[in-house]
Amino acid sequence: MAELRKIINRAIDAILPAICVNCGHPIESNDLLCRACRSKIIIKKSPRKIRKRFLFSATEYSDPPTRSLIKALKYKGIISATNPLSQLMVEYLNNSNFFKEINSAKKYFIVPVPVHFFKKWKRGFDHSELLAKKISNETGIPTTVALRRKKWTPPQNKIKNDELRKENVKNCFALNKKSELIPKGSVLIIFDDIVTSGATIKEAAKALRPLRPSKIIFMAIASR
Ligand SMILES: [Zn+2]
Repeated sequence: MAELRKIINRAIDAILPAICVNCGHPIESNDLLCRACRSKIIIKKSPRKIRKRFLFSATEYSDPPTRSLIKALKYKGIISATNPLSQLMVEYLNNSNFFKEINSAKKYFIVPVPVHFFKKWKRGFDHSELLAKKISNETGIPTTVALRRKKWTPPQNKIKNDELRKENVKNCFALNKKSELIPKGSVLIIFDDIVTSGATIKEAAKALRPLRPSKIIFMAIASR
């Protein structure tokens, strides 16, 4: 079923007229954004701290073009949105000296924050997993789907209060079989498309602790 959905999504991608997902202006390339909208995205320069860990977040979620790209992927199933989104991430990682600070003696893994199995089945894909894999292709840092979501939870952006967000995602992740591929002492980069209060990635970090990583950092396309 998921495979069939993937095929249908790809077919839809191929036949959609090329228009900017943000302003609807016709475009020639398949980047999904027109030049004017792309130029409005401000790539950040340095990481910031959230929940006591570094967050490498490429853009502000308040940038409408970034939001349009993320919505195109998540809610319209436009898989090709992973291309411009991962490009934003790579541009940001280059800007922020991320690669210069990599310790070559350590193993690095990108761990996407998973959606619930049922949501993945319904959408036909897990958007964070797709983005993480794309970023892996461009950076050479492997992606391991080390986590699974145990609980079905309402989306964090539907919950206004930080305390309720924390409750909403409490203990919602567990390690899955693939986590056995991660050696002790690795650097784990928890990836999500959007980070808001940081409650979700903090829970993901908690679930990864039994792997005894030497460091956990956060990565996101956009943050608030
Ligand atoms: Zn546009």
